[in-house]
Amino acid sequence: MYALRRPPATPATTRGRAIGYSAAARRALPFFLNTFRASSTSETEETTNVLRMVMFGKPGAGKGTLSARLVKKYEILSLSTGDLLRQHIQERTEVGREAEEIVAQGKLLPDDVMLKIVASKLDHLRNKHWILDGFPRTVGQGELLDAHLKKQGTPLSLVVNLDVPDDVILGRISDRWVHPPSGRVYNLSYNPPKVDGFDDETGEPLIKRPDDNPEIFARRLNQFYASTSPLLEYYSKAAQKPTRLPRLTPHQHPHQLAFPFAHTMLLKTLSGKTSDEIWVQLDALVRSAFPGLKERSPSLETRRRHSLSDAVVAQAGNLAQAPPLQGDS
Ligand code: ATP
Ligand code: MG
Repeated sequence: MYALRRPPATPATTRGRAIGYSAAARRALPFFLNTFRASSTSETEETTNVLRMVMFGKPGAGKGTLSARLVKKYEILSLSTGDLLRQHIQERTEVGREAEEIVAQGKLLPDDVMLKIVASKLDHLRNKHWILDGFPRTVGQGELLDAHLKKQGTPLSLVVNLDVPDDVILGRISDRWVHPPSGRVYNLSYNPPKVDGFDDETGEPLIKRPDDNPEIFARRLNQFYASTSPLLEYYSKAAQKPTRLPRLTPHQHPHQLAFPFAHTMLLKTLSGKTSDEIWVQLDALVRSAFPGLKERSPSLETRRRHSLSDAVVAQAGNLAQAPPLQGDS
């Protein structure tokens, strides 16, 4: 069992805790906060039960692999900033042209550039369960993200820190192959593709990431220790104090001003040498902390677009042929 910092979903009146957690309080919340429930939650469920998660860990720790497993099993969308940047680079967008050299050298893009590309995706997904993989990566990005989410009344609900030893990670890199359009990751030793060199689902060729060579990878790992690992301290402080969501704008009902919304984020470290080992813990964690999460229907699974980038494009109508996302109508 996991010791959750967040109280279980029972009526606030029975335990005298913050009114922001109760269904009654939510009815008193302004319209804009009430709309931020996941589409799968019912009127009686809690707004805080929406999974808005950061998958945190060293390069090669398995963030992409584990996010993909969650997305495959549950009605969750994920966004990998690494995948998104690679897509920008391939499409030679303005961001892509800026990113190309930086990514090739294993350095980080500026915080404001990163926030802009992530926020433009997240803004379409206020009422969904989602995972960020590879963002934030600096304390500056963490603060920008928090400020952005707080403004929208959709704060982070879970940060998972993947704790994998460096020697295990270094051993993985030479064996790693990826399918860029989907972000699927294969490892020749423990998760090989069914047909050597080709993606299991589309049959398209796999590639080696140019920044997955030993020299650049060592630089990415150093970059992690210098710039990214301080975020853990930032999140452990955040996990100890509830966030207060924004007060109302003047034209909203005065009664609603009395009920600011309190929300506590959960931070959990999961340790292991393989993604299979960590998966068991991760699955149990999200199940117990987010009981409202729905499993995907297996018959529809392969027709769904699971990646957040696809979802947003599809919603914008740019992919007229795209099947709708589960929960969308
Ligand atoms: P892995 O894919 O194994 O988890 P990683 O986390 O280093 O490794 P990606 O997340 O794919 O790799 O990111 C690849 C590169 O994209 C990074 O090395 C960096 O140059 C750039 N990048 C990705 N996310 C960010 C970010 N949040 N801030 C700045 N740069 C980023
Ligand atoms: Mg990745």
